[in-house]
Amino acid sequence: MRKKFFSRFPDGSSRNWQDWRWQLRRRATSLPALTRILETPPRGGKPLERLISRYPMAVTPYYLSLLNPDDENDPLSVQCVPDFRELSFSAGLTDDPLGEDLSMPVPNLIQRYPDRVLAIVTHRCATYCRHCNRKRFWRVPEAGSLKSRLAPMVRFVSETPRVREVILSGGDPLMFDDASLEMILSSFASIPHVEVLRIGSRAPVVLPMRITGNLCRILKRHRPLWFNTQFNHPAEITPDAARACNRIQEAGIPVSNQSVLLQGVNDSPEVMQSLLNGLQKISVRPYYLFHCEPARGCGHFRTDIRKGLKLMEKLRQRCSGLALPQYVADLPGQEGKVPLWPLSRPIQNALRKHQDFFDNFEELD
Ligand code: SF4
Repeated sequence: MRKKFFSRFPDGSSRNWQDWRWQLRRRATSLPALTRILETPPRGGKPLERLISRYPMAVTPYYLSLLNPDDENDPLSVQCVPDFRELSFSAGLTDDPLGEDLSMPVPNLIQRYPDRVLAIVTHRCATYCRHCNRKRFWRVPEAGSLKSRLAPMVRFVSETPRVREVILSGGDPLMFDDASLEMILSSFASIPHVEVLRIGSRAPVVLPMRITGNLCRILKRHRPLWFNTQFNHPAEITPDAARACNRIQEAGIPVSNQSVLLQGVNDSPEVMQSLLNGLQKISVRPYYLFHCEPARGCGHFRTDIRKGLKLMEKLRQRCSGLALPQYVADLPGQEGKVPLWPLSRPIQNALRKHQDFFDNFEELD
């Protein structure tokens, strides 16, 4: 945190700063608030207001304290400050690039593989990532209470013995308080054939104070539990974020990372190498590097697939195998996650069926 950043908030104090609820209450959700806190207006001016009415903004004070507003290409600002390019039309971009809405046997439960389901337990996030492939949900109100939303999901999993793993996602499941999270975890964990739970959360990166001792005790009770987070840039690996990951690990829960390959954020070998080495240093396993999906509002983040392949080749030469993630594209329908590197003939053939999914797809020999 920049020195005394909390003094930019009327009730800011070092004590409040460590309170995750205060962090949520004091998020920047409007342009005037963002301008006041950063002491400089974001690039883009008025058109951004129209953009925010379509794709809301929320950034925690903690994440704001990591931004460098003097750098117009600051890789952290790029991830959280609205950009008018989110409104630009581009053929091939869709709201739901993975066809998730068509793979829901019951509302909010995605099943794309026979043995796994992904439960969208909330639409809310601590900080809205501008590159999010589920930004279509941000403005959709959650219908009914948590219990009423959860019941059909739990019923479906109970009646489907092939499902052995449940992934809690969203939105960010750690937006719930501890009691609600305990309720969600035990509802799925009590189903006899559910062997493993997984949580996908960006809290260690954007709200590390959410990883409290009590939360870790709850998570520990529900092992085997796997925790996946999303660091995209080495500047996100702060002492606070490292401490948050360490707390989860000390509860006996492995922490893995799923980055997204983002133009202007981490698409250079130097930045990606530093990110991967930094993750290895805090014992967070680099698991996936996702090719950015063709989601509407995210087109300006997408890189050419060739660039991704070249990047992986460089990383192979520079990084230890333990720090190398799988570079994958999550393709719509049954195809699922396809490893892009090293590029084999069968994979190339599979990719050819989904050429629309990639920018500048040409013969990749
Ligand atoms: S935390 Fe995840 S779900 Fe939430 S906005 Fe970021 S990428 Fe999307």
